[in-house]
Amino acid sequence: MAKDFLKGTKDSYDIIVIGSGLAGLTGANVLAKQGHSVLLLEHHYQLGGMATWFKRRGGHIFDISLHGFPVGMIKSCRKYWTPEIADSIVQLKGIRFENPQFSLRTSFTREDFTRIITEKFQIPYETVDQFFSYARGMNFYDDQSMTTRQLFEKFFPGRSDVVRLLMEPITYANGSTLEDPAITYGIVFSNFMSKGVFTFKGGTDALVLKMKDELERNGVDIRIRSLVEKVEVDAQRRVQAVHVNGKRIACRAVLSNSNIKSTIFNLVGAEHFDPAYVEEASAVRLNNSSCQVYIGLKPGEGFENCGDLLFHSEHEGFDIEAMLSRNVSSRTFSFYYPETRPGSDRWLIVSSTNANFKDWAELPEAEYEAEKKRLCETTLDCLDQYVPGVRDKIDWVEASTPRTFQHYTRHLQGASFGTKFEGLKVSQTLPEQIHGLYHAGSVGIIMSGWLGAVNYGVITSNEIDKALTPASAAV
Ligand SMILES: Cc1cc2nc3c(=O)[nH]c(=O)nc-3n(C[C@H](O)[C@H](O)[C@H](O)COP(=O)(O)OP(=O)(O)OC[C@H]3O[C@@H](n4cnc5c(N)ncnc54)[C@H](O)[C@@H]3O)c2cc1C
Repeated sequence: MAKDFLKGTKDSYDIIVIGSGLAGLTGANVLAKQGHSVLLLEHHYQLGGMATWFKRRGGHIFDISLHGFPVGMIKSCRKYWTPEIADSIVQLKGIRFENPQFSLRTSFTREDFTRIITEKFQIPYETVDQFFSYARGMNFYDDQSMTTRQLFEKFFPGRSDVVRLLMEPITYANGSTLEDPAITYGIVFSNFMSKGVFTFKGGTDALVLKMKDELERNGVDIRIRSLVEKVEVDAQRRVQAVHVNGKRIACRAVLSNSNIKSTIFNLVGAEHFDPAYVEEASAVRLNNSSCQVYIGLKPGEGFENCGDLLFHSEHEGFDIEAMLSRNVSSRTFSFYYPETRPGSDRWLIVSSTNANFKDWAELPEAEYEAEKKRLCETTLDCLDQYVPGVRDKIDWVEASTPRTFQHYTRHLQGASFGTKFEGLKVSQTLPEQIHGLYHAGSVGIIMSGWLGAVNYGVITSNEIDKALTPASAAV
C-alpha cells in the first residue's frame, strides 16, 4: 500500500502553507512563532523549492540557486530564523566579467564599482555617484513609468559597456530586462551594491535542514510529497479548507507559496474572483526560466584563480534575446570550492543560463536528450578556457532545463523568478478577493530571489497574523 504522507495530520489548522520555497518556509516559521497552528505542505520529497540541491554518486552535492544574494539575508535570517543560520552567511569576493567589451574582477560593492566605472570606463565620479544615489533612493511608491533603459540613458547615454556591467548580473539574478520598470532594477541593484554578494557556507542542504529543525521546534507540522489539488472557498468567498493527496483539511487561512497564477487559476478557480481581477491576473507575464549544467570534478582535481562567480559572454553587447537563446552565448559559472561545504573535498562548477520555456517544452524526447547533451558539451568547451583540461578532470556532468524546473517546483513554464512586475499587485490584493487567502513567493522581480522571497514571507505572514488575531488580543 502507498505510504500515507498525511498520517496523523489534524482535521483543522489555523493556517495551511502551500509550498516550501523560502517564502513558504519563512512564512510558516513566523506564523508558528506568533502562536498559530501551521501545516506546511510540499509536493516534492525535499523542502526548499528553488533553494534546493541534489546528490550524485561519488559524493557530489550540487546547489541549484546558491550563487549569491545581498547582505540583507543576514539580518532577515537573524530576525526570522536563527543566529546560527545568520552566522553561516559569508561574502563572495571574486566576481569576474569576461566578454568582448571588458575583462575584470570586482568585489561587487559600490566602492569597487565606482572605482571601475571611473578609472576603466572613464565616467566622471560625480555621474557615477549620482547614479548610485538615485538608484539607492528608488522605492516602491515612486513613479513606475521609467524603464531601466531610460534610467541608463539618463546617466550613461550611449555607453553599452557600462550598461552591460550594471545590467548583466541583475538579469542573471532575476531575469529582468531593460524594458522593466527602473525601480525593480534600482531596488535589487542597490541591495547587492550595499555590501556585495553573499553565500551560505555549508550549502543549501545545510541551510534547509537547519530551517526544518527550527520549524519543528516551533511546532510546524511539515508534510512532504503532499500535492495540494484545491483550495476550497465558500459562496461568500471565504477560505474553508485545502484538498491534498485526496484529503480535506480545514483552516482559517491559506498562505500559498505556489506560483501566483497557479494559485488563482488552478488551486482556487477563476469563477471565485471578480472578472476584472481575473483579467488582471491573466495578463501577468511569467518571468523566464533557466538551464544549468552541473560539473563535478574527480577527487583530487581542482581549479585555480577562477573566482567565485564568472559572468561569461561571447555576445558583442548586452542583449536579452541572446541571453535567453538555446544557442547559448552567455553563461554564469559558479565555482564551488571544498570550503563551501566544510568537510567535503569536492570541487564543483555550475553553469547557469537564462532560458525560454517554449524553446525546450515541445522538443520530442530524443531531440530533448540530444539538446541537453549539446548544452553539456558546449558548456565544457567554454569552461576549458578557465579550467584548462577540464574534460580530463570530470567525474560527473548533467544538465537541467526549464522542463526540470517546472517538474520540481510546479512553477508554470518553469519560471525561475516568478512573474514580471505586474504580478506583485495581483499577489498583494489576493486577500481582497478571497477572505483568508494570501500569497508569498517570487513575484514582481522585487520579491524574487532568496532575500526577496524570505522578506515577502515575513510581510505576508504578518498580515495573516493581523487578520487572525482579534484586536483585543493584539493589544
Ligand atoms: C537556476 C536558478 C538560479 C537562481 N539563483 C539565485 C541566486 O543566485 N540568488 C538568489 O537570490 N536567487 C536565485 N534564484 C531564485 C531563487 O531561488 C528563487 O527566487 C526563490 O528561491 C524562490 O522562492 P519562493 O518562495 O518564491 O518559492 P519557490 O522556490 O518557487 O518554491 C515554491 C514551492 O511550492 C511548492 N508547490 C507549488 N505548488 C504546490 C502545490 N500545489 N502543492 C504543494 N506544493 C506546491 C513547490 O514544489 C516549491 O517547493 C535562482 C533560481 C533558479 C531557478
